[in-house]
Amino acid sequence: MSHSIPPALEIPRRLLLGPGPSDADPRVLKAMAAPLLGHLDPKFVAIMSEVQEMLRQVFNTKNRLTLPISATGMAGMETCLVNLVEPGDKVLVFNAGYFATRMVDVAGRCGGEVHEVKLPWGQAFSPEQMRKEIDRVQPRVVGVVHAETSTGVLQSLEGLGDHCAKHGALLAIDTVTSLACVPVELDKWGVDAAFSCSQKGLACPPGLSPVSFSERALEKLHARKSKVQSWYLDLSLITQYWNQGSGARAYHHTAPISANYALHEGLRIVLQEGLEARFKRHRVNHLALKAGLEAMGLRYVAPDGHRLPQLNAVYLPQGVEDLPVRKRMLEEFGIEIGGGLGELAGKIWRIGLMGCNSRPEVVYTCLSTLERCLIDAGVKVAPGTGVGAAESEHSRLAKG
Ligand SMILES: *Cc1c(COP(=O)(O)O)cnc(C)c1O
Repeated sequence: MSHSIPPALEIPRRLLLGPGPSDADPRVLKAMAAPLLGHLDPKFVAIMSEVQEMLRQVFNTKNRLTLPISATGMAGMETCLVNLVEPGDKVLVFNAGYFATRMVDVAGRCGGEVHEVKLPWGQAFSPEQMRKEIDRVQPRVVGVVHAETSTGVLQSLEGLGDHCAKHGALLAIDTVTSLACVPVELDKWGVDAAFSCSQKGLACPPGLSPVSFSERALEKLHARKSKVQSWYLDLSLITQYWNQGSGARAYHHTAPISANYALHEGLRIVLQEGLEARFKRHRVNHLALKAGLEAMGLRYVAPDGHRLPQLNAVYLPQGVEDLPVRKRMLEEFGIEIGGGLGELAGKIWRIGLMGCNSRPEVVYTCLSTLERCLIDAGVKVAPGTGVGAAESEHSRLAKG
């Protein structure tokens, strides 16, 4: 019998400037090429402990239960809600975007009585409004998206944890796009459950979702009257593999070995750079990109003071079509930028400068290629406008 065999993969070089995945750091890809170990090999178990300890540092927490779920960010969202929400529990979700809408869906599937507070997409909730809604609803669990990737909005969480604790509610937050790009302070903010992903700020391939649970969240988990509906995501089972002394770990599922090598190296890179330096780098390159985009006439979706440096959501210029520009960026220049989700589909572009992609030369490459596309689409921009504005902003920031 003869087989039809496709040729070996030839992967083109791309610059991934969408909402994720963003490019993996070359050191991470190299780490992944190491030989496999067994999932209970003492050497692998030591790697697991180091991954957990580094995750605690990046999340700024002492939470014992801090580990990567073996799946993407959405599995982290399901893990937080399926473990913390029991049928009939009141869940309050602050919803101003696509991912918060998913939180509403997931919490409902867990049997929660979901109360949704909505704002138009692109806005952020004020601390007073959040406190007022918690007082009114008296929820058991509060869900908030810290970095709403569909709109580029950063949601402030200051003071929210204390208010939740006062009302006996647990605070669960989505840090999928925020972790390792902007400050995430689980302990200081009184967060009870948080989830993230490997392929955005951590500059690793997709496949792992770091989660962290506070002691209060663990108490709620241990006091459950009903079993966690998901076997795979049940933390009382997963912790028998992840959260034990090195000799006592028991098989739950086969950990994705190479993905954990990748995360180990990705976390080492983050901590070697230092969190503060990393946040500053993201801020500086965002401001330069923003100067360039605005000079070319593009407007941000998120209001001043609530913008994510790592995810720049801007409206398309008048008369420009979404798909032809993104297609040309990809096919001619090898650059992926993101389109809009949900109600913003066709109306915005989302440009990510995450992890190792937050660099001046990436800012200039993105601006010059996008400018070419806009000029050819009939937008009146003088050539060099975008890069020029970005360069002045970079040098202004270097002086100040
Ligand atoms: C990307 C993203 C997710 C989903 O993560 P996946 O890895 O695609 O499953 C969830 N929430 C936010 C805010 C995101 O940006």
